[in-house]
Amino acid sequence: MFFEKMSWTEFVIVARLQTDRPPAGVSLSVSFSRFFMSHCCYDAIPTSSKLVIFDTTLQVKKAFFALVANGVRAAPLWDNKLQCFVGMLTITDFINILHRYYRSPMVQIYELEEHKIETWREVYLQYSLNSLISITPDSSLFEAIYFLLKNKIHRLPIIDPESGNVLHILTHKRILKFLHIFGSMIPKPPFLQKRIEEVKIGTFKSIATVRETETVYDALSVFVERRVSALPVVNEQGKVVALYSRFDVINLAAQKNYNNLNMTMQEAIQSRPCCIEGVLKCYPHETLETIIDRIAEAEVHRLVLVDTEDVVRGIVSLSDLLQALVLTPAGVEALFS
Ligand code: ADP
Ligand code: ADP
Ligand code: AMP
Repeated sequence: MFFEKMSWTEFVIVARLQTDRPPAGVSLSVSFSRFFMSHCCYDAIPTSSKLVIFDTTLQVKKAFFALVANGVRAAPLWDNKLQCFVGMLTITDFINILHRYYRSPMVQIYELEEHKIETWREVYLQYSLNSLISITPDSSLFEAIYFLLKNKIHRLPIIDPESGNVLHILTHKRILKFLHIFGSMIPKPPFLQKRIEEVKIGTFKSIATVRETETVYDALSVFVERRVSALPVVNEQGKVVALYSRFDVINLAAQKNYNNLNMTMQEAIQSRPCCIEGVLKCYPHETLETIIDRIAEAEVHRLVLVDTEDVVRGIVSLSDLLQALVLTPAGVEALFS
């Protein structure tokens, strides 16, 4: 039954799981890889969730306001001429538009006011992904993780091949939640008890941060240049005092203050309407299991790794965890390839 469901790529990976010896230092355990290979994307669709779709002729400004009004983080884009989905609109697109066209608090961002989604895509697609990356409901969650990490995206629409309908938008968080709900029966790999400093899962060099005295525009520049999903906000001593994620940028649309990107990070953080209090952190001596539990319970995309002085030493993101727990044991590298 399991083999009937598998695609050719999965079959190759399973064959590898059964025959290859992992490289030295890598745990023999492949239980998470097997778990995600044996469950399909359909299994991870919640019984109820909101889906918002935009026509590409909609004005970009209205689209971002609609994301806020509907409390969603991204929307598939429908091209009425082509009669198919052609891409996604995410908060990263909002960041790119603001960063590209912002001049000063005195000058209205004409392009945000006037551009349609299709106009923006004509400009932007010369430099980035130009087709929709999607997955079918019967593909495995292992494949979904591979697509998310390989393409460095955070939203993967599940599209029914027969109707062409989007059924759900899969994210790293949803995948981890699925593991938390249904994975309690699978044996825990022994390396979960290792300390994060031993297993080195995460990024520990060249961490992109922003100082609390820098402006929102400075933060947007780091998002665009480094393509990271969040920035630890640090004080003069380099201690982390807050976290500013791409998601937080949508507050500029919610509060209609995207015309003043000269405000400081301190001001931007204080003006967030509802956010997690403090920074969710982890320490080098903590085990992988503790870190996974903390990230899953808080429903955040990453923890900031700090030393005893609260100085930023790294980032442990869901992408790092899914690569290390699911893809690496199967001999598949996506995140850094
Ligand atoms: P965010 O973290 O803000 O939700 P993503 O990292 O998912 O954004 O998106 C990065 C860029 O890739 C954006 O320009 C977005 O429109 C595009 N993108 C996101 N998901 C997909 C997808 N499934 N197919 C094609 N492009 C995508
Ligand atoms: P997404 O669901 O788009 O991946 P994120 O997890 O990046 O969103 O962010 C959702 C909210 O949680 C944001 O307000 C962000 O600032 C906050 N947040 C995310 N990670 C942390 C963290 N490690 N510490 C504190 N707040 C966080
Ligand atoms: P993410 O986009 O958070 O899923 O992470 C993709 C990769 O970028 C992971 O290896 C993260 O550890 C890394 N990463 C995330 N945020 C930062 C940051 N602020 N500085 C450096 N690397 C980061």
